[in-house]
Amino acid sequence: MRVIKISSKSILEAYAQLLGSQPIEQLKEKAHKFTGKTVLHVNATKFGGGVAEILQNMIPLMNELGIEGNWKVFTAPDSFFEISKKMHNALQGNMKIHFTEKEVNDYIEQGKSTFDQIKPDSDFNIIHDPQPCPIINFTEDKVGKWIWRCHIDTANPNPQAWGMISDYLSLYDALVFTKLEYARKASHALKYQIPPSIDPFSDKNKDIPLERAREIVEQFVPLDLPLVTQVSRFDPWKDPLGVIDAYRIVKEKRPVRLVLIGSLAHDDPEGVEWLKKVKDYAKDDSDIYILSNLDGIGDIQVNAFQRVSKVILQKSIKEGFGLTVAEGMWKKIPVIGGNVGGIKLQIDDGINGFLVDSVEETAEKIIYILKNPKIARELGEAGRAKIKEEFLLIKHVEHYLDLFEMLSK
Ligand code: UDP
Repeated sequence: MRVIKISSKSILEAYAQLLGSQPIEQLKEKAHKFTGKTVLHVNATKFGGGVAEILQNMIPLMNELGIEGNWKVFTAPDSFFEISKKMHNALQGNMKIHFTEKEVNDYIEQGKSTFDQIKPDSDFNIIHDPQPCPIINFTEDKVGKWIWRCHIDTANPNPQAWGMISDYLSLYDALVFTKLEYARKASHALKYQIPPSIDPFSDKNKDIPLERAREIVEQFVPLDLPLVTQVSRFDPWKDPLGVIDAYRIVKEKRPVRLVLIGSLAHDDPEGVEWLKKVKDYAKDDSDIYILSNLDGIGDIQVNAFQRVSKVILQKSIKEGFGLTVAEGMWKKIPVIGGNVGGIKLQIDDGINGFLVDSVEETAEKIIYILKNPKIARELGEAGRAKIKEEFLLIKHVEHYLDLFEMLSK
């Protein structure tokens, strides 16, 4: 087995500077047992959304710890991604969705093609989300340990959708959820909780001088009014229309601009349709800016927008975790998030941000933050401290190592 050489100028050194040497030494010790082992991640897209965001940062860190990390993306016809997006929505609790017999068969059959493309044979094979979940059904001699990693909130799934994956779940060695309450329907011996994380050194999150951030943002939006920003795929669960409603209430009382930034992920066919819906809903309000990767918004631009905003919103109706919440908090910007799922793991209401249940409450909290810069700064400081303590990538990797340890016994 190939052993990865640990480079001298390292990510770990950067973490040691940020957190002190103790947590890094602890991590290295845990990783030592797995030196030279292989870990494969499988998902549906290289770009767009939280999973891709995490994996691109996690692989180099694992490699630096001497564990050979790999990431493979399967391809499928567009018709499959229509089914898998339906599946995503149904597993998050849309009870109106029904799958035809053909859709059920196509979903399962794609598992065979996914298997043939990827042929997972690593020591630890981590299969992300429902899209590739049935792949395990097509292994003849299962090599290594198999983990299904679910990133969505499956606490109250559509029964038909859950039925389409539950038989496969029992074939995995472990199931990983962001919160254990999402695993309520899974009857499996090893259900494990691992929250996601952000990489503080990535282009998305690294420190950049405020002046530089302002220059970047001014290429897209003037900065003479305060910005309220939501960075999210264009998706009904992210409630972009509710965000516009909240902005409209605020706008009657205070001058402000709304920025909606949303990438179009390869595995998300709803994105284009929702982008149009959002644009139509915004009408021709010149203080609403709707931007996407197609306008040249990449990681550094998202970083800059988050940094110069007065308020970050993540007004989701369902949210497995919500990396954008952690990203805003890390940058010391007050975040207002929907009072749901993984957002509740991150925001302690009134202490390091606000949790909201309605459009009106969102507007009220935006106004409160805009009116009270001192409180905004305190919320921001507390937000950064929370992310530093619990949701940096290094902790995420440590959770995986603990799981590997458990699976190796
Ligand atoms: N993101 C981005 N550009 C966009 C929209 C989203 O880079 O236009 C990133 C965002 O910064 C975050 C990830 O995509 O890192 C979204 O993850 P999250 O957990 O918030 O939501 P998901 O898309 O996985 O439901």
